[in-house]
Amino acid sequence: MKTTEKTSGAEKPAHVPLPLKYRPMTFDDVVGQEHVVRTLRHAIESGHVANAYLFVGSRGIGKTTLSRIFAKALNCLSPKNGVEPCGECENCRQIAEGRSLDVIELDGASHNKVEDVRPIIEAVQFAPTVSKYKIFIVDECHMLTASAWNALLKTLEEPPPYVRFVFATTEGDKVLATIVSRCQRFDLHRIQTAQIVSRLKHICGLEKIDIDDDALLAIARGAEGGMRDALSSLDQLVAFTGGKITEEDALAVFGLVSRQALEDLAGAIFAGDHAKILELVAAFDGSGRNLRRIAAELMAHIRNLIVYQALGAKGVEATPEQLKTLEQQSRMVESARLFRIADQLTELDSRIRNALSVRTLIELSLIRCSRIASTATIEELMRAVRAMKGVACPGIVAARGPQAHDGNPSAPAVPSSRRDGGSPYSAQPSAAPKVAAPKAAPSAAMAAAEGEGRPVKAMSRRDIVDDAKLHEMMAGIPGAQVSEIKEK
Ligand SMILES: [Zn+2]
Repeated sequence: MKTTEKTSGAEKPAHVPLPLKYRPMTFDDVVGQEHVVRTLRHAIESGHVANAYLFVGSRGIGKTTLSRIFAKALNCLSPKNGVEPCGECENCRQIAEGRSLDVIELDGASHNKVEDVRPIIEAVQFAPTVSKYKIFIVDECHMLTASAWNALLKTLEEPPPYVRFVFATTEGDKVLATIVSRCQRFDLHRIQTAQIVSRLKHICGLEKIDIDDDALLAIARGAEGGMRDALSSLDQLVAFTGGKITEEDALAVFGLVSRQALEDLAGAIFAGDHAKILELVAAFDGSGRNLRRIAAELMAHIRNLIVYQALGAKGVEATPEQLKTLEQQSRMVESARLFRIADQLTELDSRIRNALSVRTLIELSLIRCSRIASTATIEELMRAVRAMKGVACPGIVAARGPQAHDGNPSAPAVPSSRRDGGSPYSAQPSAAPKVAAPKAAPSAAMAAAEGEGRPVKAMSRRDIVDDAKLHEMMAGIPGAQVSEIKEK
């Protein structure tokens, strides 16, 4: 990847902020916007450049950068391969330094009135001085007033052949439909976390910054898809730590929860460990972590798990450490439950903005998630019961043994009403062997004595909840708890 390195020798060079130093200079440098780059390149190559372009996307993902590269590519005196701006000719340098007479930038946020756009309308009348095109770049164009747009509209409809417009905005929906319909619109993507990590890694190598993968991941997560934010944070961290950057430093800057802690939280949810969940949330709250982001980050992890279960490692963008956890946790919960947890987290995310106590809401929601992950549904129970009737019945009967009827007072878990024949499956819990065991040694004599001739009654929810034997059997089903049955 090409970069603009400026490593000078003896005297210490002035500090150039990283976002500026590593701002992409060519189409090749642009990260994460391949769909836009491809189209722009093709337009230049084929000579079919539209009159106006509209770049829509959140801040710091490359709208202005792309506009300038595009302007350079259009006006470069000796473009490489016919499309890449050379970066060295007079036009390229003037555009990069913002002093080109033929590339005029307007900040729509501060210059949004009719008077502000009038100079554009006048400038359009004159052909470019030294370049092929006269290019107008209007940033934050959604801020322009309706009358400013109206003044521009005529020019936009029928511009002279040498005029091109590039509009950029963070809020595409606020741009008037009459304007959008006259532009080629591009929606820029948030940059993938893995792409930011790899770019940061590259830059850290060039800058000789000592940083580990988890710290890079933390910066990328904190930047939420914006490369500029990621580089600013890296800059800030270098100034703060003086070189060696740890995950903890990076997390502190953003108020983020560490990858490990987040994965532990997910693990606790899957294991139904409510105490651990509450403990972790308390720790996050106590150390000033951004609780509002936990739902979103947990959601990203759940999504990764679902994708991992479906496609394996090739489907997710994750660091090797993350992959290890995904591999392990994907075996803890089946995807149907993951989907229900995702629903629960979506609900949490939508309610968190209006929550009176964010912490309480998160605690309750995460415990609900863990119930979803660890509670057997009535369907699962009935399936298990049916399977037992078919397969393990002789063993169960055998397991009941003589104790079931001997009035042994040390059998309190089973209600007496049941012991005298209420349920065909009830047995004394202390004496009963594990579910899997009885298949091995059914006692024909006992079966004959105990199990014959008694009709099998349909079991109610209460029967299942109260049945100690079933309790024990459910222990053999991963994640099932009979006491937590939810009827649907
Ligand atoms: Zn050039």
